[in-house]
Parts: sequence; structure tokens; C-alpha cells
Amino acid sequence: MKTIKIFAPATVANLSCGFDVLGCCLDTIGDEMVISITDQQGVRITKIDGADLPMETHKNVAGVAVEALLVALGKTEIGVDIEIYKKIKAGSGIGSSAASSAGAVWAVNHLLGNPCTPQELVAFAMVGEKLASGNAHADNVAPALLGGFTLVRSYTPLDVLKLHTPQDLVMTVIHPQIEVKTSDSRSVIKQNVSLKQAITQWGNLGGLVTGLFTEDYELIGRSLEDVIIEPLRSILIPEFQQVKEAALSTGALGCGISGSGPSIYALSKGLETAEKVSNAIRDVYQKTGLDFDIHVSKINAEGVKIMNYPEA
Ligand code: ADP
Repeated sequence: MKTIKIFAPATVANLSCGFDVLGCCLDTIGDEMVISITDQQGVRITKIDGADLPMETHKNVAGVAVEALLVALGKTEIGVDIEIYKKIKAGSGIGSSAASSAGAVWAVNHLLGNPCTPQELVAFAMVGEKLASGNAHADNVAPALLGGFTLVRSYTPLDVLKLHTPQDLVMTVIHPQIEVKTSDSRSVIKQNVSLKQAITQWGNLGGLVTGLFTEDYELIGRSLEDVIIEPLRSILIPEFQQVKEAALSTGALGCGISGSGPSIYALSKGLETAEKVSNAIRDVYQKTGLDFDIHVSKINAEGVKIMNYPEA
């Protein structure tokens, strides 16, 4: 039996101007998974700790993603056992399902001698996202697999690019513990945008990508703007505007909705500013009486990481 223990990272998708195409990978928040190759044919979820999620392979994102990988590799005769130690709450908007599907395919691919590149694994992890949300989006699984910031340049054909990660960027994320149904956060979005909005949005997206590659923090900050999705979705998140104002006035480069919410992200230059932003956001939320978690994390430029080999 070959076994591996991995860290499956949380991710922040959209990043304001990059709805469904941009994402980045976090370092201090993520699940742990233990994945084993066995000679007992079939993919099994053998343990889930920390969350009430389906144990049936076909209902668990990790299960369906690994099955898709094994079919593509012509390896359906082997067995895979998956243990999931959940630290990322499902429905939080920081890629809970993506961590499981990306982590599982990464680990199985590694145990099989890396027949696929991380880029090639994105398509299999997307099978898990399709199960979780009905939409095979890649903006969480791509940064989980490739690390750093990623851009889905095209979905058909799939073309995922890894961008540059400036060293000093630090993310602050607040997760208000309220339920925002993905169906609700999708239903408030309009299917058509005006040309004026589109011009602003793609200008910002180009600016953000340029800012990342040139490590121009000011440019990154002024590009983190969303004129299409945020005005509609933010009404589902309590105190969104107050949090954003607190983050920006404390020095954050930008602030917006993480994925489909309810988490809110703020990107800062340097750990000190990110901690100040964390305190300012905490002050806003403490007054609401709602439960919440706050995380401060550097950007994880690697993606999924090996923790150790429990049994060689
Ligand atoms: P997030 O908003 O944090 O990205 P998602 O909404 O993408 O979380 O995923 C949560 C949904 O996926 C839930 O309906 C959950 O039951 C389902 N799901 C199935 N398997 C898993 C898994 N292994 N980890 C997390 N969620 C899973």
C-alpha cells in the first residue's frame, strides 16, 4: 500500500475583477487528507473528520474527481482510500469543495508517479466542482493545484495560466458564519452586462495581472474593483460595506467578496498591515453579534503540499 498525507489549501476565487477566472491559494488554512493506493478495486471515502459530508464516493467531490482521473489514465483496476480531515467549512466561500477535489487528484497522481501535470489535473478536479455547485468552475481548483495566483484564460478549451506572486502580499479573510446558498448568490447575478461595465472590468483585470507580474502593489490595489458582481451580491453579506471601508482605511490594497461569499477577503502589502486589517474587520463584526472566523495568510505559491508519508 502506498500512502501520502497532504495539505489541501483553501483558496480565494474571483478577486473582484476576475469572476470565474481568477483565484489565489492560501497558506495557513486548508484541509488535511490521507490518500492510499490499495489493491482493492474502487475509490472509497474511508473517513471524514470535522464536517458532516457524504461518505458515498459518487456524492463526495474527492470521490468523483479521483474516479474521473482513474478513467482518463485507464487505471480503474486499482483501489484508492481517501481520508478527509476538514478544516475549511463547506459553503464558506474559500474553496472547501475545491480543496478536497484538488487535494485528492493531486495525491493520487503523485502516488502513481505523476503521469499528469498540475495543469492537466485541473480538469479532473473540476468534476468535483460540478458536483458541488452544478458548475464546473476552475477558479478555486486551479490555484489549489498550481499555487499562487491563477487565471483561467479559457474554459473551452481549458487553458489555465499561473501568474506571478509578489512576495509581500498577505490575505485577510473573514468568514461570517451565516449560510448564503450558492443558488441565491448565483440568482442575484445578471446574465448580461453593459459595454461600459465590461470595459471597466477587463481594464481592471489586465491591470491586476500586470500589477502581479511587475510587483506594483499600487496598481494591484487600484485594479481590485468589481463593478459587475459585487454590487449585486454584497447585499447578501451583513456589514459588507462597513468591512470594506474598515479594511481600505486601515491600508488594505483591496477588499471584496471571496468566491460566492459569505467570506470577504482583503489583500494587503505586508503582514503588519494584514494584521491591522484583521483587527479593524473584527471590530466591525463584533458589533453584529454574528459568529465569525478571521484568517491571515501569506499567499501559498506551491499549492497542495506533502505533509509526510505515514507509511512509506
Ligand atoms: P465553498 O463555498 O467553500 O467553496 P462549496 O459551496 O464549493 O464550498 O462546496 C460545498 C458543497 O460541496 C456542499 O454542498 C457539500 O456538501 C459538497 N461537498 C461534497 N463533498 C465535499 C467535500 N469533500 N468537501 C466539501 N464539500 C463537499
